Amino acid sequence: MTNGADPFDLASLIVAHDEANAFEAVVPPIVQTSLFTFGSYDEMVSAYRGEIVRPIYTRGLNPTVRAFEEMLAKLEGGEDALGFASGMAAISSTVLSFVEPGDRIVAVRHCYPDAFRLFGTHLKRMKIEVTYVDGRDEEAMEKAMPGAKLLYLESPTSWVMEAHDVGALAAIARRHGAVSVIDNSWASPIFQRPLSLGVDLVLHSASKYLGGHSDVVAGIVTGSKELVGRIRSEAYPYLGGKLSPFDAWLLIRGLRTLPIRMKAHEAAGLEIAKRLQVLDIVEKVCHPALANRLPPGLTGTSGLFSFIFREGVDIRAFADHLKLFKLGVSWGGHESLIVPGEVVLEQKAQPNSAHTFGIDARSVRLHIGLEGTEALWSDLEAAIAAATET
Ligand SMILES: *Cc1c(COP(=O)(O)O)cnc(C)c1O
Repeated sequence: MTNGADPFDLASLIVAHDEANAFEAVVPPIVQTSLFTFGSYDEMVSAYRGEIVRPIYTRGLNPTVRAFEEMLAKLEGGEDALGFASGMAAISSTVLSFVEPGDRIVAVRHCYPDAFRLFGTHLKRMKIEVTYVDGRDEEAMEKAMPGAKLLYLESPTSWVMEAHDVGALAAIARRHGAVSVIDNSWASPIFQRPLSLGVDLVLHSASKYLGGHSDVVAGIVTGSKELVGRIRSEAYPYLGGKLSPFDAWLLIRGLRTLPIRMKAHEAAGLEIAKRLQVLDIVEKVCHPALANRLPPGLTGTSGLFSFIFREGVDIRAFADHLKLFKLGVSWGGHESLIVPGEVVLEQKAQPNSAHTFGIDARSVRLHIGLEGTEALWSDLEAAIAAATET
């Protein structure tokens, strides 16, 4: 496995030409077609035999989707990558390629709620058991791993921002012969490159930072040729969660500015987290850079974090008073967002609505967008003032 591109080397991101076919256009074309035709019987039979690699049908291979996959593989240091119609499609196809009935998965607690729900519904029905472990507790991880086929990681987690020593956890999985997978959506390859830390497969909700403009839902997985090849041949074609050419084209556009967007999210996010931390009405700020030192391999922080209000703050008034921050789920785009914890706890989703993912009822999750630190801080200050008036 290569070390991949320097994440701040824009040159490697900007080059995504299809020089043979695109009139030397600086932006690759959207190859918006379902099928590709053949010039002759012989050419068709060679493609079917796999003697030549060329597109046949877009669910299998599409040039625009392939261009995005190659860019992301390079950025994460993977040998191959596979795009999906959503982050959840990437998660379900990846997990289902490595487990069968009777197998066990170990997952970090507080993993993405819909991944938890997939594990607790479909996987449970298939007699695949999932054990949840606090990823900060390596001893507990060591105890949980024997016999497990897959280790499912996410770090930092996306509400309480628990950050793990990803390299140490990957080494535990390797010792026990399990495949390790990480959801790297929060840090993006700009701040964490798990393949270089020993993780086998890295996946993303590309709907978040990779896209970066809140206009696409997509996913991707990257890693070695062998493991990505297994997903490509076992789950991907038949579950069918294919990334569309147009969405791939939007993602290529998004990747070009990923390094500078991530640095802007980091700077504004950290500054606002620090200002919140010293307020009397704030009990705790959950931001990985404020907790301790960042774990090895996490080289920066994104714009998503949460904090907990003390009693005496009207969270509804706070939310309704914000102007720049919009009330909305998801994150990773240009816009700033809030989600009150008490609203999320109202969701009665299967399989276990009592599972809280560590969410405190007095917490608020913030996504710090690109509007500018001072404008965002004024918005927060005014809303806090309105929420604490007696
Ligand atoms: C949004 C999200 C997902 C799911 O991605 P979709 O593109 O919405 O399917 C997975 N993991 C994390 C951490 C997310 O935030």
